[in-house]
Amino acid sequence: MPRIVVVGSINMDLVTLAPRFPGPGETLLGSRFFTAHGGKGANQAVAAARLGAEVAMIGALGRDAFGDQLHAGLAHEGIDLAHVARIDDEGSGSASITVAAGENQIIVVPAANARVSLAQVEAARDAIARADAVLVQLEIPLDAVEATLRLARREGVPVILNPAPAQKLPAEWLSLASYLTPNQHELATVLGADEQTDFRELMRRAPCPVVLTRGGEGAWYRDDAHPEPAHQAGFKVDAIDTTGAGDTFNGALAVFLHEGLPAAVRKACAAAALSVTKLGAQGGMPSAREVATLLPH
Ligand code: ATP
Repeated sequence: MPRIVVVGSINMDLVTLAPRFPGPGETLLGSRFFTAHGGKGANQAVAAARLGAEVAMIGALGRDAFGDQLHAGLAHEGIDLAHVARIDDEGSGSASITVAAGENQIIVVPAANARVSLAQVEAARDAIARADAVLVQLEIPLDAVEATLRLARREGVPVILNPAPAQKLPAEWLSLASYLTPNQHELATVLGADEQTDFRELMRRAPCPVVLTRGGEGAWYRDDAHPEPAHQAGFKVDAIDTTGAGDTFNGALAVFLHEGLPAAVRKACAAAALSVTKLGAQGGMPSAREVATLLPH
């Protein structure tokens, strides 16, 4: 059973369905409201746990009702929460999402996620040293991300940097990642390159191995063994809701990395394809058995 450590965000998604977006000062009647557990870190941890990995999470929650619910949800997935801090004077992270006419508007308040600290990462050194792979994204402070990259490297553990939400990052930092897992837009942003540049060219420019996701088209990967970008086709499915496809992909990539990059990318594409056939980010994340049914023997 692979051991995975995820260092990242935990959010409550507050989703409102409305006929259109309200203007400034306007009140509208919506048709539906629901909450859903999210945050890139939590989503990737759940994806890995569903696939049978032993997962430990490093993150932070407020000491509020959302924090209790999110904590219970992650515990229910069997995720080790010993390194998830509860912050007394801060709320839990949230994403307020309005969906209207097939478009969405989102406001993220990091709250407790902004308090994930370098000290917390260092306190989890033993868990990181024992892990088969470490996953980190950019919804927590950058010093905690950097500490994760450096610590994993020092301990000889492969570390996957999912650069989302994207921002330009120093090349020295990127070279600490064992794998960078952007979509095309994120890779251009991280490298500070023109969005119009061919994605294969961007992959060659990155100072570390890259696994680039391209929605229904699947994924491309480049590492020392595959210096020219190689393609893994997407699996044909009836897409219902692509929310969380990238998070499922990252969780699965970490879980199957020990099988070698081509096999891991193939299984990550299969897991992510299954995830888009169901509603919600965490709602559609498949089990290892479901992934196996999609792959020919
Ligand atoms: P999101 O932010 O919505 O999670 P993303 O941009 O991070 O998306 P995508 O490239 O859209 O990530 O999707 C990640 C992976 O999910 C793809 O590499 C692919 O394997 C799978 N996937 C996404 N959409 C589809 C689809 N319509 N059909 C099959 N597989 C899909």
